[in-house]
Amino acid sequence: MATNRTFTMIKPDGVENGHIGGILNMITEGGFKIVSLKLTQLTVADAQQFYAIHSARPFFGELVEFMTRGPIVAAILEKENAVEDFRTLIGATNPADAAEGTIRKKYAKSIGENAVHGSDSDENAAIEGAFHFSGREQF
Ligand code: GDP
Repeated sequence: MATNRTFTMIKPDGVENGHIGGILNMITEGGFKIVSLKLTQLTVADAQQFYAIHSARPFFGELVEFMTRGPIVAAILEKENAVEDFRTLIGATNPADAAEGTIRKKYAKSIGENAVHGSDSDENAAIEGAFHFSGREQF
């Protein structure tokens, strides 16, 4: 499997609750190399664009409100099979269903406020990484 990249955010709940360090530690312990990293905050327009695929869902308004209410940590991660392995490390969307040892099992409180984002495909990882980082910020 080729070495490749995925994109993650530590969501506002993870930042508010003081879990930046704990989550980044699980990421690096999981074998991912951090190649881009920043603390930033999404505007409403950013969140609407980022989650456009969910715009027809009943929770869309709640999701945009949540994702814009405070700072997030954005990062690009590198590892063999990065997208799939990172989805395994974060666990199920609903932390009630997340496996032991996953980031969401440890840090997420609900299906909405679930601590972390992980890209669902190589294509989206590239789009989402480019949304947050210029070429010279990707090491
Ligand atoms: P993910 O790929 O595991 O993040 O899950 P999805 O792509 O299905 O959903 C994107 C994000 O929307 C999730 O991570 C949650 O933050 C949010 N979300 C998904 N389902 C619900 C829901 O039923 N209620 C609320 N409030 N938020 C949800």
